[in-house]
Amino acid sequence: MKTLIVGAGPVGLATALALKYRCVSDDITVLEAGSENAVAFGDRNIALSSASWRFLAKLGVTVSASERASIREVEITQRGAFGLLRLDATDVAAAELGAASPYPALKAALDNATHAAGIQILYGAKVSSVQHVAQHAEVHLESGEQMRADCVVLADGAGSDLVAEFKRTERDSGQTAIITRVSASKPRRSVAFERFTDGGALALIPRADRDWTVVWARPRVDAERMLQLDTTSLTSEINAAFGNTMGELTLTAKLTSYPLVWRFVEPRASGAIVALGNAAQGLHPVAAQGLNLGLADAQQFADAMAKKSAGIAATLTSFARQRGVDRVTRIGFTGLLAYGFDRGGWLLDVPRGLGLTAVQMLPPLRRQLTRRLAL
Ligand SMILES: Cc1cc2nc3c(=O)[nH]c(=O)nc-3n(C[C@H](O)[C@H](O)[C@H](O)COP(=O)(O)OP(=O)(O)OC[C@H]3O[C@@H](n4cnc5c(N)ncnc54)[C@H](O)[C@@H]3O)c2cc1C
Repeated sequence: MKTLIVGAGPVGLATALALKYRCVSDDITVLEAGSENAVAFGDRNIALSSASWRFLAKLGVTVSASERASIREVEITQRGAFGLLRLDATDVAAAELGAASPYPALKAALDNATHAAGIQILYGAKVSSVQHVAQHAEVHLESGEQMRADCVVLADGAGSDLVAEFKRTERDSGQTAIITRVSASKPRRSVAFERFTDGGALALIPRADRDWTVVWARPRVDAERMLQLDTTSLTSEINAAFGNTMGELTLTAKLTSYPLVWRFVEPRASGAIVALGNAAQGLHPVAAQGLNLGLADAQQFADAMAKKSAGIAATLTSFARQRGVDRVTRIGFTGLLAYGFDRGGWLLDVPRGLGLTAVQMLPPLRRQLTRRLAL
């Protein structure tokens, strides 16, 4: 079977490796618009669940211990009100819930594994459209070249717009994530934090260099104000919002920002074409679910193709249906974190506090939530 994958981001490369691992496709080519030497972007610190790391390890994708920060506990609180929920690896008899790695380290590990597996990547190959041709799909490159395949995977990220019938629903959240790093005077190693503040959630994710990455969703106007602040004022705002659970926080990086837009593509499969990862959905980064969802797409897609008993089109339709529950659950959970907690006032603080405390006091429910998100 010949497979073309559009996009050599983390999801495109994981999909290529998974197809090879499951012996689904003997002819896989990844088409990447960027150049081979493009530096992996951003100061993102990507938190992946234990399930995602297990999947990557199976594919031969390994990140060195010095680039990987273990997450054993996630602590969820709200600013200025009661309520505490602690998701703990020991609750589910696991060594960790997941781990975080800087985006460039993760991308380099995927690049290395793809090269080691002998998968062909064509760089500077920008795709301009993808069309159905009988049972196949045909990719048109900007260069004028055309390539035909039994299956085409769109893993071309948030801007994906190559197939007209894949309709995008987008919703601007009105928020911007501000991103920076902090060190702590009383660090709590291997703990990630989610704290609900007026206007948006604040996440602190541990880093391999022993700092924490801060991702704080702010209403757009407030984010613009914060981007103008000097280091002292910014440090004091972050400390005031986070509280003193880790002592004094000190800023260790510049502030960057990222507009928060939700995206959902439906249908995501048609004929011999399927969309995976950010090409199929875009999530708020506060719950750290975007790439976890993209890797689960890659894994389940390869599984579906390995087991296929019907034709490719029927297999892709059934894959899209099966992914529905995980997709809706993770998008719903992320939406709850992003919007359910972004407004203040005791009328809302009290039920939220009770909700967090109730899950904390109900071990079976807590364990179920922990397993669903991490294992
Ligand atoms: C601030 C921030 C923090 C985040 N933190 C987390 C986290 O902690 N945990 C988590 O799970 N997720 C996180 N995410 C989400 C995660 O970064 C994304 O889900 C993931 O990077 C998406 O990967 P992808 O391969 O689908 O898309 P991309 O990484 O966007 O890759 C798409 C690729 O396709 C190529 N391409 C595009 N168009 C074409 C074309 N026409 N032809 C050929 N090639 C093309 C691009 O050059 C690119 O290489 C975060 C996101 C942000 C913004």
